[in-house]
Amino acid sequence: METLDLSDGFSIHDYRHGLKLLRQDGERTLLENRAEYACPACGEPFERLLVTENAVHSFQTPPSGPICLARTGEKLLVLTH
Ligand SMILES: [Zn+2]
Repeated sequence: METLDLSDGFSIHDYRHGLKLLRQDGERTLLENRAEYACPACGEPFERLLVTENAVHSFQTPPSGPICLARTGEKLLVLTH
């Protein structure tokens, strides 16, 4: 299982083949994990990944499962399981 590598930032294009784009609006992108990528925070496969470059973010519908956070220099990654 491949883990998302954040050591040099995060680019969706590096994982394009395994992440399905669900929604994109402005600086926010929501993706579905299609390739059983592992979460960089806990090492378990995640279901969805939200990538945002915004300084703040609100969730309209809180996820029901565990949430992991990871950040790079300019992006915040929210992973739901
Ligand atoms: Zn996790």
